Amino acid sequence: MVMKRRITQQGRINIGNEARGSILTGKVTISGSVKGILISPYQIGDENRPDCKVTEWDAGHRIVLPLQLRQKAQLESGMTVELLFPGDGSILLVQALNTCIICGKESENMVRMPNGRLVCPECRLTLCKDES
Ligand SMILES: [Zn+2]
Repeated sequence: MVMKRRITQQGRINIGNEARGSILTGKVTISGSVKGILISPYQIGDENRPDCKVTEWDAGHRIVLPLQLRQKAQLESGMTVELLFPGDGSILLVQALNTCIICGKESENMVRMPNGRLVCPECRLTLCKDES
């Protein structure tokens, strides 16, 4: 089963306990590449790595994805990401394919905007509808 989550307007993500497992509950280390954002169990010394951010979950089980890492991975607020599990207890967030930037739904007839964002046919209709 593919797990998907949406990045909030504040750049947060709620992974949920079912996906976090028991290893990722405390301090975590966030890193990023062009492939995506990796949330890993914290290891001593991670705070000294310039490419990482050590952080903790807030009370609502959310985590802030640092802007710098989101830019690197091209994951913007509002985007839907897919959760991948490399098997070492960490979670890799990658951009979900074919999901609408507005409603987050999946569709095959996406229109790609000049900025790379995808919009589904339904939202396109809503956006283009004349007010009456
Ligand atoms: Zn849509």
